[in-house]
Amino acid sequence: MMKKIIVATKNQGKIKEMINAFKSLPVELHSLSEFGPLPDAVEDGTTFEENAIKKAKFYAQKTGYACLADDSGLTIDILDGAPGIYSARFAGYHANDLANNKKMIEELQKKNIEQSTAQYVCSLVFVDTDGKTLTCTQKCEGIIRIFAQGNNGFGYDPIFKPEGYQQTFAELGNEIKNKISHRALAVQKLCE
Ligand code: IMP
Repeated sequence: MMKKIIVATKNQGKIKEMINAFKSLPVELHSLSEFGPLPDAVEDGTTFEENAIKKAKFYAQKTGYACLADDSGLTIDILDGAPGIYSARFAGYHANDLANNKKMIEELQKKNIEQSTAQYVCSLVFVDTDGKTLTCTQKCEGIIRIFAQGNNGFGYDPIFKPEGYQQTFAELGNEIKNKISHRALAVQKLCE
């Protein structure tokens, strides 16, 4: 019998990526959107993993099904790991990607540098109906720069160049990103 699992996101891109990665397993992935309006999980953990566990447990309890949740962001070495779990709101609570990227460039310029080593991090967590929990955290190493290039992707992709490539994630596009990104690696590992 196929096991029904809820993916705790409304982001269709993430759901597609997970359906593709889990296709060899006897599981059926469903979107949280199928359950109508649900409250947001409180993400007040201090690590990506803690926040992903909170999200997965919260929605497993709300829906009554096993649940998969992720939490991700960017850690910059020269900024001592910032913005980390605050990546989505680096430039403020309702900040968009453009404002966050502008703030990132300003922070690097304040340090008089044009680039820093950085990591995209993704924690992916599976919580079963009996509370059994699997966690997995993966990184994608690279460089964050003050020059934005490319139009694909989202978030910090125009200013992030993954290790081993001369172009940003926003220039490389989804085919490569879906093989080497923090999220792709976490999905593969959890699937194993
Ligand atoms: P979330 O975990 O998908 O909500 O992502 C948190 C934030 O981290 C996003 O809003 C982005 O700012 C950043 N982020 C996470 N993954 C990526 C990525 O693959 N590309 C660009 N930015 C990302």
